[in-house]
Amino acid sequence: MRHFAVVGSGPAGFYTAEALDKAYGESARIDILDRYPVPYGLIRFGVAPDHQSLKAVSKRYDKVAESAGVDFIGNVAVGRDVSVAELLELYDAVILAVGSPHSRKLGIPGEDLPGVIGSAEFVGWYNGHPDYTDLDPPLSGEHAAVIGNGNVALDCARILSKTRHEFEGSDIVGHALDALDASAIRTVTILGRRGPHQIAMTPKELGELGHLEAAVPIVDPADFPPLAADAPLEPGLRKSVGLLRGFADLDPDKPKRMVFDFFAKPVRIEGDGKAERIIVERTELDEAGAARGTGETYAVPASLIVSAIGYSSAPIDGVPYDERGGKFLNDGGRIADRLYAVGWARRGPSGTIGTNRPDGYEVADQVAAAMAPGSASDRPGAKGLKALLESRGAMPTDYYDWRKIEETETANARPGSPREKLVRHDDWLRTLGRS
Ligand SMILES: Cc1cc2nc3c(=O)[nH]c(=O)nc-3n(C[C@H](O)[C@H](O)[C@H](O)COP(=O)(O)OP(=O)(O)OC[C@H]3O[C@@H](n4cnc5c(N)ncnc54)[C@H](O)[C@@H]3O)c2cc1C
Repeated sequence: MRHFAVVGSGPAGFYTAEALDKAYGESARIDILDRYPVPYGLIRFGVAPDHQSLKAVSKRYDKVAESAGVDFIGNVAVGRDVSVAELLELYDAVILAVGSPHSRKLGIPGEDLPGVIGSAEFVGWYNGHPDYTDLDPPLSGEHAAVIGNGNVALDCARILSKTRHEFEGSDIVGHALDALDASAIRTVTILGRRGPHQIAMTPKELGELGHLEAAVPIVDPADFPPLAADAPLEPGLRKSVGLLRGFADLDPDKPKRMVFDFFAKPVRIEGDGKAERIIVERTELDEAGAARGTGETYAVPASLIVSAIGYSSAPIDGVPYDERGGKFLNDGGRIADRLYAVGWARRGPSGTIGTNRPDGYEVADQVAAAMAPGSASDRPGAKGLKALLESRGAMPTDYYDWRKIEETETANARPGSPREKLVRHDDWLRTLGRS
């Protein structure tokens, strides 16, 4: 028998467990560890609550968790409750699938002012992440800004612009729904350092903006190159740029506006004890396609500023870390002997849910090449881990504990919502009778 520990129960962790389970069958036990008693990583805490069809991928992960060779061990934080070195003693291989939970910093003066929030925090707040339940983003001003030109920036801007009615059928948490419903924000400026041809926004996410109940996207046609320049673009990007161009034809007469401000590089955030405005420098593209400042600056009013410029992993003691890339140092997923990384922890924060699948399968192949299916070792796996955790007073949970939490969330759902998430660690444990 072989024992494998997959650390992290997001898409990368589940696809890796699925691949290992297929490769080893009954000759291995695979434990998926997570710091929370609730699985799925960013499927639960990142993907937008009004994109329920995407969240349905968790049903596939349930099948993996229900497989005889796979166990989910929740409420165990690696680095806090058990070290990677200890896991390597207990398991034949350890695969880090811990994602990239931290927002990248802007690196400009004023970014620590109240009112400036990273997307990890803001997204976590409306998705019921226990660390951000009390975030209380300032929503009483009329102006907000979102920095970034990717899908996460679009998610944040859309969530700030939707009506209560438009959240029906979503699993946005009650505290965020009530706060957003009472929000005074009327303009959300989406700032991008470069132009429409350099966006990382996909057509589906952009297309939605043209059909919002109370908000309209605004673009300045002068920001676009001549139409003929779209032809050589990759088809997805060409479609996105076409959608953006089309926003210029929409009736701008709606109560809320989402203003695309291209060629705008944030240089500092100003305000009297809190964010009030962001100073941006007008840019142009240089020969290499990078943003080059023109020296012209102007102020964009914003009492809430969400920076959505990327994520980085949290370093773990004893694991080599690539500061620049915000991920673990690895060679094709291999960090060291019997230690691997997959998903965002391996590649950095890019790619869709599906991108993590080949990634997980590839690392499972490497593990299988190093220890042939059917081979054995005398490492104790979960038995040893549980004994160690018990000696430390930790309280691991299992997959059926999660289902109990899920049942409670479903039972508590407000009408039209699939669930009302429990948003505090204590609430999870209380539901399980463990606090
Ligand atoms: C805001 C946002 C919206 C997105 N929307 C979409 C979308 O609409 N469509 C799409 O295809 N993709 C979307 N993505 C991308 C997608 O979510 C990622 O590709 C995917 O979640 C990465 O998977 P992962 O398993 O590497 O990381 P994660 O999903 O982050 O999972 C990491 C897991 O590791 C656990 N963990 C972390 N540290 C520890 C530790 N020390 N010990 C134990 N456990 C730990 C975490 O609790 C978590 O469960 C979005 C991403 C974000 C940030």
